[in-house]
Amino acid sequence: MRPELETQLLHCRNLPSPPAVALRIIELAQDPGADLAATARLIGMDAALSARMLRVANSPLYAGRRRVDNLGQALTLLGVNATLSLALGFSLAQGLRGTNGTAAEQDRIWRRSALAALVARLLGHHAGVRRLEDLLLAGLLQDIGALALLQAMPEEYSTLRAQAVDNADLLQRERTAFGADHAQVGAWLARHWRLPSYLVDAIADSEADSEADSEADSDDAFQACVVASGTIADLWLANGQVEQLGEHARARVEACVTDSTRLDGLLVQIETALPEVATLFEVQIAHPAHLAAIIDDAKELLIVRNLREIQDAARARSEAQASEDQVRRLTEQARRDPLTGVYNRLQMEDVLEREFATAVALQHPLSIAFIDLDDFKNINDRHGHLVGDRVLHQFAQALQRMLRSTDLVARYGGEEFLVVLSHSNEAAAGRVLRRILEETSRMPMAEVDGKPLYVTFSAGLATHGTSRQFADARSLLQAADDALYGAKREGRNRVSQHGQ
Ligand code: GH3
Ligand code: MG
Ligand code: MG
Repeated sequence: MRPELETQLLHCRNLPSPPAVALRIIELAQDPGADLAATARLIGMDAALSARMLRVANSPLYAGRRRVDNLGQALTLLGVNATLSLALGFSLAQGLRGTNGTAAEQDRIWRRSALAALVARLLGHHAGVRRLEDLLLAGLLQDIGALALLQAMPEEYSTLRAQAVDNADLLQRERTAFGADHAQVGAWLARHWRLPSYLVDAIADSEADSEADSEADSDDAFQACVVASGTIADLWLANGQVEQLGEHARARVEACVTDSTRLDGLLVQIETALPEVATLFEVQIAHPAHLAAIIDDAKELLIVRNLREIQDAARARSEAQASEDQVRRLTEQARRDPLTGVYNRLQMEDVLEREFATAVALQHPLSIAFIDLDDFKNINDRHGHLVGDRVLHQFAQALQRMLRSTDLVARYGGEEFLVVLSHSNEAAAGRVLRRILEETSRMPMAEVDGKPLYVTFSAGLATHGTSRQFADARSLLQAADDALYGAKREGRNRVSQHGQ
């Protein structure tokens, strides 16, 4: 900024200055030890400010919570930082209204500021910025430079503003006339008032082209919201041609918002929150006739979108459920032998590995038995393959029924089954297998020409337990297989135990 302009502003009698309470708030905001009690004491001294803080705590901006009746509750709800930011905003908005015949122009500036404050906060919410009240304050104060220029040189600046066709033109004219635009003047003023440095920076960059800067750290998100807020406020307050401004605003919303919020949706939110904000900042903002159609469309779209989201969510839920069921069915299918319905070999080897590891770790016995139907080839040869199949199915099912639910049955291949009896020692497992053999031999497995068909089996049993420990599941399987061959050799229809 040119030194002459600085001098001119400094010596301007009418230069707006913060009210006493605002100065105290600025001081307190810089104090790292500031707490709720100190903040409440300060704000409590100003009745109008207290009333406004109560109002804000009960406003839809903090909607959905219980009614707040006193300043203490309001400050607790808002927190120290947010309270100080809001209080500073209110007291500056009150105190910076000079009286030098430019009231109408000042009003215009405050309308834009109040609107920009609301927009910045809404955008910040969508962009995931956490310091929403700081953002509101930055949105509100971005044009204090214009207020200062208006006070320092009322006629000249009023004329200049009247001649400007849009904001970009205004900035250009300011630079030509004063060597600085109102953003630079505002930043200078903020520094002069010792406002927090984030505000000084936010005001300085409030007219910067944020789209040029693609890096998105949190400061950028904050600043992008401030920059967009001015453009959207201009769009709201414009009269006449808004197409270009609308495009510009759209781009700026996209530059700072990460979710699917679009300008149209934002305009609906502004419309909803505006009456409250206008009251808080004591400005009157007319309903924008030029945006009415867009807002109405957006409302309709929002309703449709909400409905669709509800439907989509329901559909997604049921699809997820269906595919989960499908996966479960397929997984189960992959584990089972289709002919007999018991586990297949692959699944059993998996299970056996786990059972063996558990038995070793917990030192409990584990018995397994290979069961092979006797002379099964004969059944096929005599009665046909289909009967053979039925026998296999019936036997597998019977085997499962005769075992405890904790025991496992798998078809290992052909007419050979593997049974895993966890927690069973040699004696118990031998008893179980002999009982099953006995029951099997009395159980018709099929009917051929009206006559029952019986089968027997040979079983080889091996136990990992106190008398014999195996190195791994494979060795245990081998031992059971050896025992099975022993049973076959000894004449079939019997249970043979490994090591006995
Ligand atoms: P052993 O007492 O020595 O076990 O004699 P076996 O006839 O039972 O044994 P072998 O290994 O000679 O024959 C097994 C037969 O089982 C031969 C094969 O056709 C039959 N088989 C294997 N899988 C199936 C099947 O899925 N369905 C039918 N129906 N038969 C099968
Ligand atoms: Mg056999
Ligand atoms: Mg066999």
